[in-house]
Amino acid sequence: MTRRPAFPARLDAGGPAPVKPRAPAATLPAPGGVGLDSQAVRARMVAKLAAEGVDDPLVIAAMGAVERHRFVDTALANQAYEDTSLPIGLGQTISKPSVVARMTQLVLGGRREAGGKLGRVLEIGTGCGYQAAVLALVAGEVYSIERLRGLHEKARDNLRPLRIPNVHLIFGDGMVGFEKGAPYAGIVAAAGGDAVPESWTRQLAVGGRIVAPVTTRSGQQALVVIEKRSERDLQQTVLEAVHFVPLKSGIA
Ligand code: SAH
Repeated sequence: MTRRPAFPARLDAGGPAPVKPRAPAATLPAPGGVGLDSQAVRARMVAKLAAEGVDDPLVIAAMGAVERHRFVDTALANQAYEDTSLPIGLGQTISKPSVVARMTQLVLGGRREAGGKLGRVLEIGTGCGYQAAVLALVAGEVYSIERLRGLHEKARDNLRPLRIPNVHLIFGDGMVGFEKGAPYAGIVAAAGGDAVPESWTRQLAVGGRIVAPVTTRSGQQALVVIEKRSERDLQQTVLEAVHFVPLKSGIA
C-alpha cells in the first residue's frame, strides 16, 4: 500500500478551502500577492497546463497540490504561477511549470505500479525542491540529488514544513547517479549535458524511462526520452527544444 503524503490532503483541489478565522484586513498581509487564495491561482495554472496537453490525472493532481510559491523568494512569489522559470540562487533556476508537468508526464509513461504511480524515481538537480515535491505525488519514493550545497540546504528548508515522507535529498554529484536507490523506474534530469551518463542507463530498471535535456549535434538543447526495453535495448526519442542549466561534474 502506498502511503499518501500528508501535505496535499489539506490542499486537494476538490476539497473545501480550510476555514480560517477572519482577521481584520489591516493585520492580514497577503505575502507577495499570493496569500490564502493561492489555490485559485494554481487552479488557473493547472487549467492552462491541461489545455496545452497535460492529460495524466496524476500529474494534474500533483501540479494542483504543490504550492510553487513556497519554493521561490517572497519577492518573486507573485510570479510563481506564471509559466516562467525563476531564479533560485547560485545562478540556478526553478523550471517552468509546463516543463515540470511535461517531464513528469513523460517519465510516468514508463513502467507504473498498481494505482498508477511509478516506483522509485531519481531526480538529478534538486534545485529548490519543487519538482521533487511534484514527483513525490506520482512515485513511491523520490531520490533527489544536488551538487550545490547551498541549494541542497535550501530544498531541505523548503520541503521540511511540507513533511513529505517519500522524498530523500542527497548532496552529491548526480553524474554518477545514486547507486543506493537503484534500480529506478524513472530518472528525471533538471540539468543538461552533452550526453546521458552511462551510470543513469545502468541504474534504470528495464521498462523504465529517463527524461533529460541533452545538447544535440546542432548545439541545441532538446528534451530526450530514453526507454530501457531490455538490458541491451535503449530506445531514444528526441523531443522539443528546451533551455536548462548545464549539468556539471563534482560538488560545490
Ligand atoms: N528541479 C529543480 C530545478 C533546478 S535547476 C527545481 O525544481 O527547482 C537544476 C539543478 O541541477 C541546479 O540546482 C544545479 O546545481 C543542479 N545540477 C547540475 N549538475 C548537477 C549534477 N551533476 N548533480 C546534481 N545536481 C546538478
